Amino acid sequence: MKVVVIGGGVIGVHVALRLSQMGYSVFIVEREALGSGLTSRAAGIVTTQLVYTFDIELVKMSMELLEDLAQGSYRKTGFLSVNPESIVKAYTAILDKAGVHYEVFRDSEAADRWDCLTISEDEVVIYTAGDLLLDPGALMSSMRRRLNEAGVEVMEGVEASSLNINGSWVQHVATSVGRIKADLYVITAGPWSRGLLERAEVKLPLKLYRCQVFTVKLPAEIELPPGSDDVNNLYWAPESGKRVLLGNGRIEEVESVEKAIGSVKGSFVEEIAVKASKRIKGVLDAELVTGWSMPCSITPDGIPVVGKVHSLENLYVATGLDGYGLMRGPAIGWLLAELIATGRTPNLLRAMSPNRFGEKSYGDFEIIERHSRLPFEITWFSQSGRSK
Ligand SMILES: Cc1cc2nc3c(=O)[nH]c(=O)nc-3n(C[C@H](O)[C@H](O)[C@H](O)COP(=O)(O)OP(=O)(O)OC[C@H]3O[C@@H](n4cnc5c(N)ncnc54)[C@H](O)[C@@H]3O)c2cc1C
Repeated sequence: MKVVVIGGGVIGVHVALRLSQMGYSVFIVEREALGSGLTSRAAGIVTTQLVYTFDIELVKMSMELLEDLAQGSYRKTGFLSVNPESIVKAYTAILDKAGVHYEVFRDSEAADRWDCLTISEDEVVIYTAGDLLLDPGALMSSMRRRLNEAGVEVMEGVEASSLNINGSWVQHVATSVGRIKADLYVITAGPWSRGLLERAEVKLPLKLYRCQVFTVKLPAEIELPPGSDDVNNLYWAPESGKRVLLGNGRIEEVESVEKAIGSVKGSFVEEIAVKASKRIKGVLDAELVTGWSMPCSITPDGIPVVGKVHSLENLYVATGLDGYGLMRGPAIGWLLAELIATGRTPNLLRAMSPNRFGEKSYGDFEIIERHSRLPFEITWFSQSGRSK
């Protein structure tokens, strides 16, 4: 059976590899080069410090896949979060339930462990030693080798413009090199998925927002794992030497992907640098190295859409990954392949059905920031079993 996967980001390459292992004849149609979308622009944070149990399970599964498929593309750095004391009890209960190993540090203990950090008395550091910092470029190089070995045809520089639909079937995909016909189609085009879906008259409630980061060079090297400051809504990831990447989780909605692609705004750099300087010593004297802005996509409940599109028999989608799809991407791609092959939805994808939204919520919803979801959890969907 022939499958066309549209979009070769972290999700596309994993779904393609798994389908090929299962005996499908798989083609990836990628507009530029593998990983050239959001995947290559990500900070690389892979952490189990998430809100929903199923997300934590997905990250654990991604970590196993990375170990199997892309050793050498990540470092085990650990991850720390700085939290207001008021949420720590509820949040550590979530981590306990998900079986995440963590350590808690209060003010002077945290400063003793990471002397470049400033922590006040009413703040608490949660540290998860098993978390990773992933190099997206190295991941995609490993996956390119795997895809080659598996015989997946990777068509780079080929753009899908529309899906041709007859009744409830996709007949072919129109691309810059002509029509491509297959039995099944999978849209994994990141934030660009929305446009492709709209042109196929598939309505999914997806909004786009600007996601910005920048890198600074500190006056001296510091020892600090990747982390987030959930008091000031800020995150960081150490790069090589004295360089640290800085960003935040704030949502600034944009109407189109094009409006979010470009360089980082000066006002953003200023705001984040001031906040970060209160947390990490040396940031005020750092020099700006580079920065960029990309669009992320998000749904009304902040949970991705992954699965078969209700109105069409042979169309699947995985998008709406918010600002943390790199860490869940390998697992989501793998499980989507399982769903396609068996027709059954794996437990960890159950909350992600593309068909869970009513018509009325399409395009008309308030975006919930991840930050403000803490420490609440969806209790109607917590499970322990996962399949691979
Ligand atoms: C600044 C920033 C920092 C981030 N940091 C992190 C982080 O630290 N950890 C984390 O987990 N997540 C992070 N993310 C989120 C993460 O990058 C994304 O959620 C994830 O990469 C999405 O993967 P994807 O495969 O869905 O999409 P993409 O990687 O965007 O892949 C989609 C692909 O489809 C291709 N494409 C688009 N349209 C077409 C078309 N018409 N025809 C053919 N091909 C097409 C694109 O070229 C692209 O390669 C960050 C995002 C940003 C912007």
